[in-house]
Amino acid sequence: MAYSKQAKKLFMENSRKMDDCNLCAEVDNKVGAKARYGTVILKTGNKDNGWFATLSPRTGGNPKHDFTVQLMPQRHLTHFSQIGVHPGMAEQFGICFSLISKAMTAVMMQSEGLLANAKGKGLSVALATYGKSTTWTEKKEHLHLKLFPFRGNIGQPYTVDSSFEKKEIYLNKNKGVAFVKMTPVKKVLIDAKKYNKLVKDLLSALN
Ligand SMILES: [Zn+2]
Repeated sequence: MAYSKQAKKLFMENSRKMDDCNLCAEVDNKVGAKARYGTVILKTGNKDNGWFATLSPRTGGNPKHDFTVQLMPQRHLTHFSQIGVHPGMAEQFGICFSLISKAMTAVMMQSEGLLANAKGKGLSVALATYGKSTTWTEKKEHLHLKLFPFRGNIGQPYTVDSSFEKKEIYLNKNKGVAFVKMTPVKKVLIDAKKYNKLVKDLLSALN
């Protein structure tokens, strides 16, 4: 299919380092270095095709064992559709995503004694990813995906899950709108000792 002018414009968008981007500002940090939004735990490829990942200092889950890893391209991409445009970048994404998934799983299994085939939810390794992209100028930002244990407050069904549809529906009679209820999520800092251990364990699992 011939791409429209607008599609071509989006795919070929300038992805050079942006001075006013908070994630571009983290790209030059080395693995193990504390960046503003976490510690860099992985870097793959180079500045043209590479990705990097940080361990967030905060979690919306249980700070005793939950944590979030953020995965970002080293280029300033703003849309998923741009990943394949740059040679080698899709491959590097696959490498980065799989390495992080493996490391997170290994760390969770070791520190919590989780099982490969668990009878119940409690001892299973539930891992999820979330990311979004838009072309709405106001909301365009450096592409980033989050990987996190899908449990507790941050393990609630999302709108694309079939189980979301099964949630009980309430009605606001005044406004005439239907709604569903969710458990509130509040991000909290992970205790420094726990955080440093997580960094150490993830780095070791990634090596
Ligand atoms: Zn950026």
